[in-house]
Amino acid sequence: MVMQDILGSKGAGLAEMSNLNLPIPNGFTITTELCNYFYQNNYNLPKDFNKELSVAIKNLELESGKVFGDTSKPLLLSVRSGARTSMPGMMDTILNLGMNDEVCEALLHTTNNKLFAFDSYRRFLEMYGTIVILIPPGLFKDAFERHKIKHNIYQENEINEEFLKEIIKEFKNIILNNSAEPFTDPYLQLEKAIKAVLKSWMSERAITYRKLHNIPDNPGTAINVQTMVFGNQGSDSATGVVFTRNPSTGENKIFGEYLINAQGEDVVSGTRTPNHITSDDNKCTYSMQNTMPELFEQLQEICKKLELHYLDVQDIEFTIESGKLYLLQTRIAKRTALASIKIATDMVEEKLISKQQAIMRIDPETLNQLLHTAIDYSQLKTPIAKGLPASPGAATGIVVFSPYDAEKMSHHHKVILVRHDTSPDDINGMHISSGILTKRGGMTSHAAVVARGMGKPCVCGANDLIIDEKRQIFKVGDVTVKHGDLITIDGSTGKIFLGEVPLIPPTFTKEFQTILDWADEIATLKVRSNAETTLDAITSLQFGATGIGLCRTEHMFFDQYKIPLVREMIIAPNLEHRKHAIEKLLPLQIKDFKALFKIMHDKPINIRLLDPPLHEFLPTTEIDKQNLATSMSLPLNIVEQRLHTLYEVNPMLGHRGCRLGITYPEIYQMQVLAILTAIRELQVEDNKNTILELMIPLISDVNELKAIKKYIKNTITEIEAIHKCKFDLTLGTMIELPKAALQADKIASEVDYFSFGTNDLTQTTYGISRDDVASFFPDYLEKKIFTFDPFNKLDEEGVGELINIAIKRGLYTNPKLKLGICGEHAGNPISIEFFHKAGIHYISCSPYRIPIARIAAAQAKI
Ligand code: ADP
Ligand code: MG
Ligand code: MG
Repeated sequence: MVMQDILGSKGAGLAEMSNLNLPIPNGFTITTELCNYFYQNNYNLPKDFNKELSVAIKNLELESGKVFGDTSKPLLLSVRSGARTSMPGMMDTILNLGMNDEVCEALLHTTNNKLFAFDSYRRFLEMYGTIVILIPPGLFKDAFERHKIKHNIYQENEINEEFLKEIIKEFKNIILNNSAEPFTDPYLQLEKAIKAVLKSWMSERAITYRKLHNIPDNPGTAINVQTMVFGNQGSDSATGVVFTRNPSTGENKIFGEYLINAQGEDVVSGTRTPNHITSDDNKCTYSMQNTMPELFEQLQEICKKLELHYLDVQDIEFTIESGKLYLLQTRIAKRTALASIKIATDMVEEKLISKQQAIMRIDPETLNQLLHTAIDYSQLKTPIAKGLPASPGAATGIVVFSPYDAEKMSHHHKVILVRHDTSPDDINGMHISSGILTKRGGMTSHAAVVARGMGKPCVCGANDLIIDEKRQIFKVGDVTVKHGDLITIDGSTGKIFLGEVPLIPPTFTKEFQTILDWADEIATLKVRSNAETTLDAITSLQFGATGIGLCRTEHMFFDQYKIPLVREMIIAPNLEHRKHAIEKLLPLQIKDFKALFKIMHDKPINIRLLDPPLHEFLPTTEIDKQNLATSMSLPLNIVEQRLHTLYEVNPMLGHRGCRLGITYPEIYQMQVLAILTAIRELQVEDNKNTILELMIPLISDVNELKAIKKYIKNTITEIEAIHKCKFDLTLGTMIELPKAALQADKIASEVDYFSFGTNDLTQTTYGISRDDVASFFPDYLEKKIFTFDPFNKLDEEGVGELINIAIKRGLYTNPKLKLGICGEHAGNPISIEFFHKAGIHYISCSPYRIPIARIAAAQAKI
C-alpha cells in the first residue's frame, strides 16, 4: 500500500480516521522520505526542513488556539514514530514536548491543575532524558521509586504535589549531570526529538524485531507530530487500548483496558495494572462501562465504524481529556491463531468478507499454537499462582530471570523467562524462551502483545510473585522458586505450576473445522501424511489427511522386538541365514501392515520399501554384539567381521535405497509378501479394501528400477497364485537424486507415479549432508552466503528446477503420471505454494502439519 509506505501505518491510520470524521488530535505527518534522507546524509536533516516545520507548527497553533513554547497558552506536542508495518513498542515516542519551567507554570495557570502540570513535566523530563539524551532509564526509575518510599506512596494515584515537585527537581538534576546541552528551548527539543525518533529506527531492538518478522529496513519510519491530548488531567481523564473483538478468543465483543488519570504509555508498559473497558457481567466495578458509560457507548460506536471501514479487527489507542474522547491510533489487531480463525469464520457469517478472504487471513504457521499442548486439567495439580492469560498454550521450562540467561540456558533447556515486566529490549530473550511470565502488566502490556505475535505462551500480571532478580529467586506464598527450577505456565488460563504438568494434545474448535473444510473446497493440492504407526495414522485422519503419502517401512523395524531380527537379517553371512531371519520377521510385518491398513481402509497408502543405510541398524555396544552372536549361534568374531564389511564411510550415499533391493532381493520380496498378505487377510476377514501404492526409493538409473520391478512383479504373481486373487496396486518411485530427475522421461514410462523426496534431493543437489550442516551452516547464514535454510524452505532455483524438469519430462512419456511430494518442505507454506504451481497432485507431511498444509494449499490456489 503506497500510502503506508510514505505516511507509515500510524500516519495512514490517522489520515483515514480523520476522513471518517473521528475525533483525533490535530497534527501532521512527516513522510518516510525524511528518514531515508537522514540516514543517507550522516544524520542531518534537509536545509529547509526547519522552515517547513515551523509553517506546519504555525498551522497547529492556529487550529488549537495555543502557541508552541508560549508562556501564557502553551501548546504541547507529541512526536511519534510510525513505520510502514506496525512494530509495537519497538520505536520511540516523546510526549509533552515543549515543556520547561515557564511552560509548566503557564500550564498550571491555564488549567488550574497543579498535579496535572507537574505530572506532565516529570513525564516529559523522563522521556526526553532517556530517548533524546540517552540517559539509562534506570536512573529515572530508581529515583522515582526512592521518592515513593520516602513519601509513603504505594500506588500512583496517591502521588501528590510535594512528591512531584521533588521528582521534577531530581529529574532535572539527572539530566544536567548527564548532559551539558541545553534542553529547555521548545524548538530545539522538537528538532532533537525528531532526530531521536529517526534514530530509533536503527535501534538494536527495532532491527531485531524487523529481522524476526521479515520486515525490510526500507522505507524507514515516518514521524507524526500531534497536539497533546491529556489523559492525566484528573478523574474525568483516562487513556486506554481497545480491540474491536477479543484478540485472544476472537469473541465478537470489544475488549480492552484503560487507566484513569494516566498517559498512554502507562497502559502498554505494564507499570500499573489497568482496568477493563467492558464490565464483563458486572464483575469489574472500575470498568469504563461502569464509570464512564457515555464515553463507553461512544467508543463502542467508533469500534463498529472502524471495523466496518477496514473490514478487519482493529487495535485502537485512545485518550480521554476532561470527558472528551480522542483516538490516537488504529491498526489491524494482532491476534492469536484461535482468535484469527474465530474472527475469520464469524466475519464470513456476518457477510463482511468472503471465504477466500477468510482463508487468506489465517497465517498457517501460527496454527501450530492450536495444534500443540494444553494442560491436562483432569489430573489437576494446584497452581502456585495465577496471572492473566495473555497468550495461550502451555509451556514447561526452567526459570531464568534475564534475557541474557535465557539465551545462555536455552542451548540445553527449555526456559521460561520470568520478569517484573518486559521491555522491548527483552525481545531476543523472549524469542528464545518457551514461555514468558511477568509480575506486572495487563493483557495489552508489551510482554502480552509480543508473546501473542510470537505464538508463545505468556502469563502476565502475576501480582503475587515477589521477584528478587539479584538473588535469582521468586517467592509466592511460602514457595520459593530458584533460577533453574522447573515450572509450567498456562497462557490459556494464567495458571502457574511448580515442575512439570501432564499436557494433552489440543482439540479442534468447530470454527477451525469450518475453515479447514472451506480450504479443502478451494484447494486442488491434496494433503497426505507421513505415517507408519497406528497412532500416527489415527492422528492424520483426525487432522484431515487424504491418505498416507509416505510409509517408511524401516520405522516399523525400530522396536525392541524387531531390531534384533533386523540385525540378524543384515548380518546374515549367507542367503540361507538371511532367509531364516526374514521368516521370523514376516509375521510381525504382516501384523503391523494389517493394523495400519485397517485404519486407513479406503484411503491410499504409499509404502516405501526399505530405504536407509544398513549401517543405521547395526549394533554398536559390546553387549548388543554379543547378544546378536548368541541369538544367531555364531562366534563373536564372525559377527565382528561382518560388521566390519558393512561399515560405510558415507552411509547416506552408500548401500541404501534400491541398492539394497539389488543386492538383497529377498528383503524387498519379504516386504511385498508381508504387504500383500496383510491386504488379503483384511479382505477375507473384514471385507476391507486397501488402496496400495508401492514405492522404490533412491533410484538413479532406470535399469535399477527395471531390475527390481521385474522380481517384484514375479513375487506378486506368485502370491496371487497362492491366494487365487488379483491385487490392484500402483507402482512408483522416489525422485530424490539429480540423475533420476534428469532422466525422468525414461523412469516415468516404468511407473505410475513419482514422489519427490525433497530432503534427499536437497542434500544431493547441494552436495550437503543434512546431518552435518551444523558445522558450517551458521556461518553461511551469518555471512549471508545463504539467506535461508534449504532443508526448511525449498530451494526453488536449484532443487525446484530439478522438480520442474522431472515433471515435464515425466509427463512427456507418461501423461497419467501422478506426482507427490514427501519431505520436510511439504509442511512449509511457502514451498507449498511452489508445489501447487509446479502441478504436484499431493504433498505428504507429518501429521501435526496437516492443518497448516491444508490452509496453505488453499492459499496457493487463491
Ligand atoms: P507506539 O508506536 O509504540 O504505539 P505511539 O506513538 O502510539 O507509540 O505513542 C505511545 C503512547 O503515547 C500511545 O499509547 C499514546 O496513548 C500516547 N500518545 C501518543 N500521541 C499522543 C497525543 N497526541 N496525545 C496524548 N497521548 C499520546
Ligand atoms: Mg501506539
Ligand atoms: Mg530419501
